Amino acid sequence: MEILSCENVAFKYNESTDYAISDCTFSVKKGEKIMLCGASGSGKSTLLRLLKRELSPRGELSGDITLMGKDRSELSDRESAEKIGFVMQSPDSQTVCDKVSAELAFGLESFGVKSGEIQSRVGEMAAFFGIEPLYDRDISTLSGGQKQLVALCSVMTTDPDILLLDEPTAQLDPVAARELLGILDRLNKEMGVTIIIAEHDPEELFDSCDKILYLANGKTEFFGTPALTAKYFVENALEGFLPETAKAFARLCDDLPLNVRQGRAKLEKLGVTDIPKQAVNDTERAE
Ligand code: ADP
Ligand code: MG
Repeated sequence: MEILSCENVAFKYNESTDYAISDCTFSVKKGEKIMLCGASGSGKSTLLRLLKRELSPRGELSGDITLMGKDRSELSDRESAEKIGFVMQSPDSQTVCDKVSAELAFGLESFGVKSGEIQSRVGEMAAFFGIEPLYDRDISTLSGGQKQLVALCSVMTTDPDILLLDEPTAQLDPVAARELLGILDRLNKEMGVTIIIAEHDPEELFDSCDKILYLANGKTEFFGTPALTAKYFVENALEGFLPETAKAFARLCDDLPLNVRQGRAKLEKLGVTDIPKQAVNDTERAE
């Protein structure tokens, strides 16, 4: 079932003469995980914000955006606020309370949910995220990774159907980034949340998402499975958007390995049997 679609969407910022988004057409099925990629300035943030009405920039919008079977403008304020979650790049710009416990309860409180229900919902999500030990901490004392987990957990308390994330790992160290992406994977697989994530680093996500949307100058240049997107990137000299293993094999074969495991299997298939444990990783580092 389709949960989101954009058809011929175009958008121009008020103070601008150029279109930030144009010819943007794609659709997403319920439960899919979509990676949004493209050079800086290609329109990723603008597109994500257009999908969440409250965060949409001012300007001229045309085309059709359908969310959960309704036109964007037909969603009630509550539906848009509750059912479409948004996580930004900077963990500091999206928390509003001093204490973690207050932050996690904030969204539900603002909808007037009863306190018993708030407690059980917040408890359930905090357990899923494994952040109960942070419950009584001041947000200012948390690491960037912990803040981002709290921000995401807080968004999840209202049980959104769609999660939009704008480069949520950009300011995190690699370990924290991996942890956040792992939680997102579980939200997607175990809770069926539809995810659209703009991400600058393809390494962890490329192979684990259902489809990749590649934007160039605000246009949908390609939308397809990881394997087809990888082929498109190689054919169009866009290897920079590929994970390292795929980059290493880009000129060697059509059927590109998209992760280290597939890379090792490919080497074995090519007759390279003596592969040290670190061989594929070392190729990556040497790049
Ligand atoms: P990305 O997230 O892929 O880096 P953005 O969505 O931020 O891209 O930007 C897309 C285009 O819109 C760029 O050309 C950028 O300069 C322009 N843009 C972004 N924000 C504004 C704004 N507030 N006013 C005018 N133009 C903007
Ligand atoms: Mg951006």
